[in-house]
Amino acid sequence: MDWEEFARWGEEVARFGAAYHKGLRDRPVRPDVVPGAARDLIAATPPEHGAAMGDIWQDFLDIVPDRLTHWQHPRFFAYFPANAAPPSMLAEMLVSVMAPQCMLWQTSPVATEMEGVMIDWLRQAMDLPEGWSGVIQDSASQATLSAVLTMRERATGWTGNRAGLSGQGHLRIYVSAQAHSSVDRACWVAGIGQDNLVKLPDCGAPAFGMDVAALRAAIAADRAAGHTPAGIVAVTGGTGIGAWDDLAAVAEVAQAEGLYLHCDAAWAGSAMICPELRAQMWRGVEGCDSIVFNPHKWLGAQFDCSVQFLKDPQQQIDTLKIEPEYLRTSGAEVVNYSEWTIPLGRRFRALKLWFVLRYYGLDGLRARMRNHILWAQEVCDDLRARGFEIVTEPILSLFTFRGPGDDAAQQALVDALNADGRIYVTQGMHAGCRVVRFQVGQFDCTRADVMLAGEVIAEVSAKLAAESAASR
Ligand code: PLP
Repeated sequence: MDWEEFARWGEEVARFGAAYHKGLRDRPVRPDVVPGAARDLIAATPPEHGAAMGDIWQDFLDIVPDRLTHWQHPRFFAYFPANAAPPSMLAEMLVSVMAPQCMLWQTSPVATEMEGVMIDWLRQAMDLPEGWSGVIQDSASQATLSAVLTMRERATGWTGNRAGLSGQGHLRIYVSAQAHSSVDRACWVAGIGQDNLVKLPDCGAPAFGMDVAALRAAIAADRAAGHTPAGIVAVTGGTGIGAWDDLAAVAEVAQAEGLYLHCDAAWAGSAMICPELRAQMWRGVEGCDSIVFNPHKWLGAQFDCSVQFLKDPQQQIDTLKIEPEYLRTSGAEVVNYSEWTIPLGRRFRALKLWFVLRYYGLDGLRARMRNHILWAQEVCDDLRARGFEIVTEPILSLFTFRGPGDDAAQQALVDALNADGRIYVTQGMHAGCRVVRFQVGQFDCTRADVMLAGEVIAEVSAKLAAESAASR
């Protein structure tokens, strides 16, 4: 492809992008497709000869957009958002045309230095202590794994990587039952094992935070049993219902016990640029050693972009750094971020943060999230008024509810809502009961989109009830 042709297709891609986004409200959030429908449209054998870009483009239009779940749809209320703000998309287009590999300072000086500055901008935006640094990872799962590996290495006197875990006894990690499954996975992968992940009860409404007395008791019992407590993973904004731990209280235990403390704020962390939310949910955050949050969820810097703040990066570097001859660089002291993470190769993720933070400003981003929180409360109140049971009240912009009937009826409601296509929600479990989970956080959603969800839920639920009555 010559560069004139490339430029023409680049314009076509940008035009498609604008039209796609402008038309999103007219599409069902989730496509009405059966498994295999897309695969059957793609040639089963690789092409022997090249094709014209026009043919490839037409096939893209015919096959892809109608078979996607539209994560940027303004009425996406499922999971957590994976927002891609337009300035972030532009930055990613630039990254993809320059395609640098940012493993070392010398392989991409500006990417490394911009990453350091973006981490510091976000540190300031969240009022974290001066002197903290951090790194951009691909996912919260990777950051949590890095933190758990650091816990392991600290607890084994930095011998785990070299000698393995045989004969090291039981290393113990503590979380609340509200923690994300990425913590379980981190314990599997780090060789610590599911059985050594101690899941503590929560204290119930309103925050559903970790029972800190139970944490203290569990650590004492483990020490008495000859086990080795290694670290604690706290949560700010758990996936199920948005649970948040009292970081000040958890940090006090971590400090008293000499344990490494990582905080998983994958979703809620973005909202911590709002001082009033930080004052409530992040009291004592300075007691953490590591914090992860995903700008790719609520801040508009698209997937993948996971920021890990570190009080003392050296502990993570001591855990993960490996320097074969081919990665050695000479010259001035520089930061080589691949020494802070598990993957060697690194994308230029700082550029989209730079674009998004400059385009919207902290004010613009705060206004969006505050609206989402307000509208979540409004639609929650609307559903309550319509007779739905609110199972957990909004934490930030996430709440859960139940319609009439048993657990099977809740799943039927979720399935019917998603088949309807106007909104997309997911199910959850809370206190042993199935719930419908609803979060507001899509970058382009309006109050009208959110309030329409209340109407759709009531309408679909009534239709299900009528069908069920008719079949009796
Ligand atoms: N932690 C929490 C609280 C989450 O909600 C999620 C995903 O939604 C994760 C961790 C995992 O995030 P990632 O996909 O970036 O690994």
